[in-house]
Amino acid sequence: MDQVKTIQSYPLVLENFGLAAMSDLFDDWVVYRNLEPVERRLKGLKSARVQLELNITGIPRKLDDAYAQVAMWIFEKAQALRRAQVSELLFIGDTLSGDGKAYQNLYGLSQLPGSCFIGSEKADQEPWYSKDEQTGIFSANRWAHLADWLALEKSQGLKLDKNTVVVMDMDKTAIGARGRNDRAIDSARLKGLYRTVGNVLGDDFDAKLFESHYDTLNHNKYHHVTQDNQDYLAYMCLVLNNGTIDCIDLMASIDNGGIETFRQFVRYVETCIVGGGRVSEAMRQAHTAVHTSVQAGDPTPFKSFRRQEFLATLEHMNNLPDEIPMAERLLREITITQEVRETGLWLRERGCLVICLSDKPDEASAPNHPSLREKLPIHRAQTHAVGVSIAQALAALD
Ligand SMILES: [Mg+2]
Repeated sequence: MDQVKTIQSYPLVLENFGLAAMSDLFDDWVVYRNLEPVERRLKGLKSARVQLELNITGIPRKLDDAYAQVAMWIFEKAQALRRAQVSELLFIGDTLSGDGKAYQNLYGLSQLPGSCFIGSEKADQEPWYSKDEQTGIFSANRWAHLADWLALEKSQGLKLDKNTVVVMDMDKTAIGARGRNDRAIDSARLKGLYRTVGNVLGDDFDAKLFESHYDTLNHNKYHHVTQDNQDYLAYMCLVLNNGTIDCIDLMASIDNGGIETFRQFVRYVETCIVGGGRVSEAMRQAHTAVHTSVQAGDPTPFKSFRRQEFLATLEHMNNLPDEIPMAERLLREITITQEVRETGLWLRERGCLVICLSDKPDEASAPNHPSLREKLPIHRAQTHAVGVSIAQALAALD
């Protein structure tokens, strides 16, 4: 770590800045997991695959080299639409191993001047930030240090103009700030998951057993089967909760290596069901949908879960009145991170392209099913913006 700064301790007083939407920052310049931009003028993975002659199957994930290739390709196309270049790259996220690595991959590929901010609030610690000059990653335990980050990068020569591409992460960055409001995102997802499983299993749903399976399978030991994929985990817990599937102990098969991959797990369940398992029609339908998606190589095979997650996420946005204790809001409402919002607006004002890259499945983010037609996509839904204003510090940089 080259530059380490500890700032004199100050209390973290969070304020409510009223309603806002993420689209204020990046309009429809949003790219979710399937790598097809929401902005219709902008092409995505399908075209990139052909033009870049990518020799990959399926959709690359955030840490894959191919992901960086496709992302850079999308940035260039986006900038071409704006009659601008890609000359600098900024990245704002909340995890070193995820966003930090994704930035390093982008940097490795492009060699463009740039920098990455990783925020994770720890209100009980002294404010602190640090820049690793080797990786170009600036870490901070206050989101407000976004202003210090930009001040540093500007003083070191970044132009921050129309040729600058600013990549923003969504979950736990633009909304549900890590260390502050991230649990609200998790509980919305969990609510969606429980609803889905409840719909399939009805009165037979055993929530305690579900939790216990979830905790067990979420462990590193089972990573080879679950791939840390929430869809895989959710579906496995659903099946394990369904006592009517008449086959030998699935857990034991995973433990003793009889089942080594998620595909094998699904195939095993298929054999059990086809072999005459007495399963309900709802379970049969849920299984068939997952089975079909897995066979098609879809990394988000449990669509009904993701649709419920989408609805539960919307239900947790702007769900509380203006006047409510902050602690309660942070627990129950998914809020926009004011510091990220002000940073995005300031950069946008300078002409930068602000674009959101999110690993969030498209099904959990937008109404892409006829039954959801009336709903707004997450990035256009309003909710309260909460945080510490850094607008003055930013204005001082102009
Ligand atoms: Mg994130």
